[in-house]
Amino acid sequence: MFNFDNSYARLPEDFYSPVTPTPFTEGHFPICFNHHVARLLDLNVDQHDPAELTHALTGVTELPGSQPVAMLYAGHQFGSYVSQLGDGRAILLGQVRNQQNQLWDLHLKGAGVTPYSRSGDGRAVLRSSIREYLCGEAMHALGIPSTRSLCLIGTHGQVEREETEPGAMLVRVAPSHIRFGSFESFFYRKQFDEIKLLADYVIRHHFPELHQKKTPYIALLQAVIARTAKLIAQWQSVGFAHGVMNTDNMSILGITLDYGPFGFLDDYDPGFVCNHSDFQGRYAFGQQPQIAHWNLACLTQALLPLLEFEEARVCLEQFPKLFAHEFLELMRHKLGLQQTTSNDTRLLDELLDLLAKNRVDYTIFFRQLSFFRTEPSSDSNGLRNHFLDREGFDLWSGRYRDRLILENSSDEERAVAMRQVNPKYILRNYLAQQAIARAYAGDYSEIERLQNLLQRPFDEQAEMEHYANPPPEWAQSIEVSCSS
Ligand code: AMP
Ligand code: MG
Repeated sequence: MFNFDNSYARLPEDFYSPVTPTPFTEGHFPICFNHHVARLLDLNVDQHDPAELTHALTGVTELPGSQPVAMLYAGHQFGSYVSQLGDGRAILLGQVRNQQNQLWDLHLKGAGVTPYSRSGDGRAVLRSSIREYLCGEAMHALGIPSTRSLCLIGTHGQVEREETEPGAMLVRVAPSHIRFGSFESFFYRKQFDEIKLLADYVIRHHFPELHQKKTPYIALLQAVIARTAKLIAQWQSVGFAHGVMNTDNMSILGITLDYGPFGFLDDYDPGFVCNHSDFQGRYAFGQQPQIAHWNLACLTQALLPLLEFEEARVCLEQFPKLFAHEFLELMRHKLGLQQTTSNDTRLLDELLDLLAKNRVDYTIFFRQLSFFRTEPSSDSNGLRNHFLDREGFDLWSGRYRDRLILENSSDEERAVAMRQVNPKYILRNYLAQQAIARAYAGDYSEIERLQNLLQRPFDEQAEMEHYANPPPEWAQSIEVSCSS
């Protein structure tokens, strides 16, 4: 079924524990399946009975060539070091080499207990699995690196959380699930040879160009810092809050990993905390760049046995500058600016300040800004109606207009370019919630509808217009927390 090449399982056993998925005693059934991701794995679904595939993924039958393991990692959770986390409910079933010679992790979430489960049941609830299934694909379509979603499998069994809920298993796919916490685990156990082995593995498989460098490990740190800066800039630019930026949820490849209580901004609010268990607001939307820097400091420390201290420190210090650069570039595109001037940061900061003070919907504002016209007589498409402080908006839009005129911006061309970077459709919490509510009533069709919609977030899709609406009143009461 798959062409496995299980390079991670060829590392010494300190890196993982061999395990097998635990089949659902109450049986399982397919909920949705993503043909785009199947193609990445050269999986020809027409050649296989769907039941054969779900049996193999849920552990009812053994998947030939697979070598299932639970990966070991540690991590800083809400600022405190936890020495052994690891895949407590996830399993790396194997790695698939496709015809383009790409290697993809085939990773299960909710596949049963592993040696790292501690007191957990190794399962996932349907609610969170739907959210992760949809968001991985939505992020990919927005051009943001992410784990991808192959399929969602339901079970008639229930799992115990605050309430008893339907369970599910997600099958996700990524170039790697190695985390900052994978390195930390060896650092705190003083297993410095293993740090080197893991760094060599990451370079060999994911950054082969660094192998030639005089100091490959510092080059690796630099590359991870650069990728993380870019990733967080992308999150900030679309208004994505991850919710649990612990170091065990930070990918060494700079991809979005482990969706839990994430949320997209509705109204622009740097203080937005999507995780209702995050009482201190440690992972508030506006904190994400600083937290990424803090997490990178943890990673740098874990790599220190391979690095020269001063070089590593200088490297880490680059992060704020790299992030600011990436973010400003993305925001320039969102504003439709092609040239660079020294006032751009100020223009952007003033806008973000206005959006926050006036509680303006972030996604709707930028999408509407795409239709801004530079003639002074135009009414800016009702943009100013979003602001209580009309005068403040008029002042800003006047400066924006001057800035556009300065670079001879064409209204038509800018509108086309801006609509390609300012999404019309994002996975708002209430949309996910509607799909969940329907799934809990036995109707899974909304998941697929959302998946199709969010595959083309920049297209108008006129018949789906209402999916671009801001959240309705009832959505205020949605609470998302870690317990999933
Ligand atoms: P997460 O909050 O999903 O990033 O998970 C943090 C840690 O808790 C990881 O080591 C998970 O494997 C583990 N974990 C989360 N949920 C469960 C569960 N239901 N059973 C066992 N381990 C879990
Ligand atoms: Mg996690």
